[in-house]
Amino acid sequence: MSDKDNALDVAVRQLDMVAEQINLDTAIHKRLRSPARCYIVACPVRMDDGSVEVFTGYRVHHNTSRGPAKGGIRYHPDVTLDETTALSMWMTWKCAVVDIPYGGAKGGVACNPKQMSRGELQHLTRRYTSELVNVFGPRTDIPAPDVYTNPQIMAWIMDTYSMSIGYAEPGVVTGKPIPVGGSLGRFGATSRGCAYAIYSLLEKLNRRVDDETVAIQGFGNVGYNAAEILHDDGGKVIAVSDSKAGVYNPKGLDPRLLAKYKAETGSVQGYPDGESITNEELLEIDCSILIPAALENVITSRNADRIKAEIIAEGANGPTSPDADEILYDRGKYHLPDVLANAGGVTVSYFEWVQGLERYFWTEEEVNSKLKGIMDRAFENVWHIYQTEKVNMRMASYMVAVKRVAEAMLLRGLYPQ
Ligand code: NAD
Repeated sequence: MSDKDNALDVAVRQLDMVAEQINLDTAIHKRLRSPARCYIVACPVRMDDGSVEVFTGYRVHHNTSRGPAKGGIRYHPDVTLDETTALSMWMTWKCAVVDIPYGGAKGGVACNPKQMSRGELQHLTRRYTSELVNVFGPRTDIPAPDVYTNPQIMAWIMDTYSMSIGYAEPGVVTGKPIPVGGSLGRFGATSRGCAYAIYSLLEKLNRRVDDETVAIQGFGNVGYNAAEILHDDGGKVIAVSDSKAGVYNPKGLDPRLLAKYKAETGSVQGYPDGESITNEELLEIDCSILIPAALENVITSRNADRIKAEIIAEGANGPTSPDADEILYDRGKYHLPDVLANAGGVTVSYFEWVQGLERYFWTEEEVNSKLKGIMDRAFENVWHIYQTEKVNMRMASYMVAVKRVAEAMLLRGLYPQ
């Protein structure tokens, strides 16, 4: 496999490799290589200048054998059907690795949200939701935030869906603001889950977070919260970046001050208490833990042999190419893959959905402690396979996940025959 493969080629080839490794039933393998269903919708939106722009939206269900389709919605100019399909497949594995009762889905709209007003974003979100109003539902398909979508956008989805069915339905979407049925702990959940996975690994290696230096690519939901949690727990965050540039300070950065600076200026670029670095330099910086938390395919065969971090924890989805996976494994790196390392988000989304369906809400302590229980168990399952089968941790996670999905498919059988 080469670094030039698109995300879907990568996802399918990863499945093929696992299928071989676990001797997967041929018919199940064939079914899992393709998504169960894909929706493509045109979303006409009247822009602020009076013109009408037509945006293309996607929603893909990869597999729903273990429960309703679950996955985020991405607003980005590069969104395509292939990328959305790959991400939906990764969601199937992610939900199965942490053993929550969901199938995998993903959605997206090809747009540039940075150049759209709040009104335009709201109109786009409502039109996209209404195009898919018969697809979304608390028992069928439950969206969530992803790149450049946020709790406000989830509230608009919830409202549009609720308007169409005639009553408020919090269970249709997760990652909502707290006043409309969001869960305490959801905002930082992906990063908290990532931190729990890192701490489980550090425990296996007899290391402590206080002795670790951390570099984080991306300073949005996942990157910022990871910086804050690791900083508060004693780790030293020495470098972060966003889409414009990065900042480096070997003595450590204060994530809250940096966030304040970014809120004022729009970027971490130019932060006075550190030296400016590029995104490429950030990935290769001398640190012990690297957290890619932006976009896919940033660690490839071009830079994998220059990565200095001993631990790579994938906050982002698909940040490492398959070639780079092999290079990092051969170099003895500990590599927590996306389907495990960023599964905290979907896990607390699951808690939010359960709370919404029951109309009964938990404390933040309850949420965090249940999240820890699920992440710790998932890590142990993956670590066991990693040790006994001598495969990298991505392969180990996929082996756990694909076996669970295949078991559900075999038990449910083939309909109608
Ligand atoms: P976000 O929109 O909140 O933040 C994205 C960050 O990445 C921003 O700081 C942006 O400036 C930065 N960025 C964008 N392009 C970049 C580039 N070319 N180089 C460096 N930085 C760049 O998004 P998010 O929710 O934090 O998602 C980040 C990643 O984590 C994505 O891969 C997403 O799929 C994954 N993820 C998110 C969640 C979640 O709960 N939000 C859950 C699981 C996985």
